[in-house]
Amino acid sequence: MLILKNLHKTYPNGVHAINDVTLAIPNGVFGLLGPNGAGKSSLMRTIATLQEPDSGSIHFDGVDVVKDKACLRRQLGYLPQDFGVYPKVSALELLNHFAVLKGLTHKGERREMVEGLLHQTNLWEARKRAIASYSGGMRQRFGIAQALLGAPRLVIVDEPTAGLDPDERNRFLNLLARIGEHVVVILSTHIVEDVTDLCPRMAMIGRGRVLLQGRPQTAIDTL
Ligand code: ADP
Ligand code: ADP
Repeated sequence: MLILKNLHKTYPNGVHAINDVTLAIPNGVFGLLGPNGAGKSSLMRTIATLQEPDSGSIHFDGVDVVKDKACLRRQLGYLPQDFGVYPKVSALELLNHFAVLKGLTHKGERREMVEGLLHQTNLWEARKRAIASYSGGMRQRFGIAQALLGAPRLVIVDEPTAGLDPDERNRFLNLLARIGEHVVVILSTHIVEDVTDLCPRMAMIGRGRVLLQGRPQTAIDTL
């Protein structure tokens, strides 16, 4: 369970990007819905400990995330919006490389983890191809494989479906649903259907505030 209480963040330019956000996020895929500029990325970067809130608290499974960043980082998988990949390297090579950086130094364990993730994300057949040759959907699935290294218990994915065609999108959302059976997944999106198709719970964000939250259909019907 991830619990945000009265979070605030104002950037030096005066934009109040997170304005008194309070949310309780259980296991499963939680949809963070809002238009561009609503504050979704700001909220996700703050949860991911890439920036500090000005005030308020974040607790993950009882641990104070603002005070104990290292603890959260060990449990975090983060797929940023502008995820960049190294084009001429294969998925297998790059995942192995990230796995070593994650501290998976035992060769057998590393292989098991990397091969498992390539299967889970449906990239096994393409594992030896350069990532540069991948479609948008394959790149996003590679991004998820990378985020899942180290078996995180909190997975954050920022606008992953933007630019995917319908097949790619469905495949990607199904993958997230399976991941959400075990851990907390936060999906940010500006596409209403991502949330209604996939998320048991959601919050709508606008100008840094939580405008409504709950089960998608119930919440959206109140609009
Ligand atoms: P979203 O992810 O929903 O598009 P963002 O969190 O990226 O929203 O942005 C929320 C608001 O904060 C926007 O007005 C944006 O211009 C502003 N903003 C985002 N990051 C910064 C930053 N590093 N410095 C100043 N303003 C920022
Ligand atoms: P997505 O974009 O959702 O990953 P596909 O997996 O169907 O959609 O991939 C789109 C393109 O990538 C297709 O042209 C397909 O030929 C190629 N491709 C997909 N999977 C593989 C694979 N395992 N090996 C080789 N090429 C693949």
